[in-house]
Amino acid sequence: MRSEELFSEAQTLMPGGVSSPVRAIKPYPFYTRKGTGSHLTTEDGEDLIDCCLGYGPLILGHAHPTVREAICSCAEDGWLYGTPAEKELFLARMIIADHPSVDMVRFVSSGSEATMAAIRLARGFTGREDIIKIEGGFHGAHDGVLIKAGSGATTMGVPDSAGVIPDVVRHTAQVPYNNTEALTELLENNDNVAAFILEPVLGNVGPVLPDDGYLAEVRKITEEHDVLLIFDEVITGYRLGIGGAQFKYGITPDLTTFGKIIGGGLPIGCFSGRRDIMELTAPAGPVYQAGTFSGNPLSLSAGIACLQYLRDNRGLYQMLAENARAIGESIPSNKADGFVNLGSMFKLFFRRAPPRDYREAKESDTEAFSVFWNKMMKKGIFLPPSQFETNFLSVAHTDEDVAKIAGAYSECL
Ligand SMILES: *Cc1c(COP(=O)(O)O)cnc(C)c1O
Repeated sequence: MRSEELFSEAQTLMPGGVSSPVRAIKPYPFYTRKGTGSHLTTEDGEDLIDCCLGYGPLILGHAHPTVREAICSCAEDGWLYGTPAEKELFLARMIIADHPSVDMVRFVSSGSEATMAAIRLARGFTGREDIIKIEGGFHGAHDGVLIKAGSGATTMGVPDSAGVIPDVVRHTAQVPYNNTEALTELLENNDNVAAFILEPVLGNVGPVLPDDGYLAEVRKITEEHDVLLIFDEVITGYRLGIGGAQFKYGITPDLTTFGKIIGGGLPIGCFSGRRDIMELTAPAGPVYQAGTFSGNPLSLSAGIACLQYLRDNRGLYQMLAENARAIGESIPSNKADGFVNLGSMFKLFFRRAPPRDYREAKESDTEAFSVFWNKMMKKGIFLPPSQFETNFLSVAHTDEDVAKIAGAYSECL
């Protein structure tokens, strides 16, 4: 197999052979030659239906003509200026118009950069040092959020990576998702908390959905304790609909981070929110933040084209949700208890009920998942290779693709 050969050399060139750890599928990952619509063509000549979609950004599928044209036409005019360009205003206007909580935005180049900057900004605004995150919640790969899950529900953090110094994560506390008591208790015992950051729907544990009223209660508690609420909508922004999770659940966070879909598949991130907070960002204010590739015209062009397409075709969210539901319905009823679906996000957890938090998700039978994942690959369906990554659907998945995925679920279980 060509992929096996490539991976074997890649391991001598790059740590673990990959550019990001989740890609190091065992015994070796397939190499992709080409992505078209809902399909990937591998270097081994296989054709796969893709439910990973670059881990979320490709809601329009691979090489969508509208986005491709925007990228190509932008490339004619150069792809990096080091000066402002009008496209920044286009994408800023769209994100601001679609999110009532957002008065101003700052573009960056990744979701990690966005959450890192949002946390710094929250500290700069409040003058406080600590942050709270959800146990198992993911906000990218920077030091302050690389804290071990399961190290005690409300204790200050233990590093989740070598090279992260305890002094940094000492200022990061965790609470379980869907647990407002733990949040209240933590805030009552700590008046040095700048912000609570969470994915409104956990996308990096699988999808884990908020209990009824959970997010509203979180908003109330953070307000009562004068702590900023940061919604990390890097996955959910434009994935759960125009307006993201904050629109769906009717919550007004103080700051919001975006990434993934807003770049149409090119690298992007954005932190955004209330004007009085955002205006503390340099050069308007004292909180430093900068980036060579921030607001680069290619990412902006792809993002503008993608968001415009979504806004012009709002009905597609309904279609995506129906397709994901159809896949769930194909699962034999004695195996379906751990199926979770919200819009075009879906996942079968190998446990008896949908998890409510990270600990419950971790009780899933990952060996059974792995057997299932391999069977799905043999049927030509590429799912994210972890029990704890969300599956996605795109506009490019045809009825035939959906029927194939559903058929494969029913057979492989
Ligand atoms: C993917 C993701 C990030 C990190 O974004 P990158 O672009 O990979 O740096 C941050 N937060 C959430 C919720 C994500 O899903």
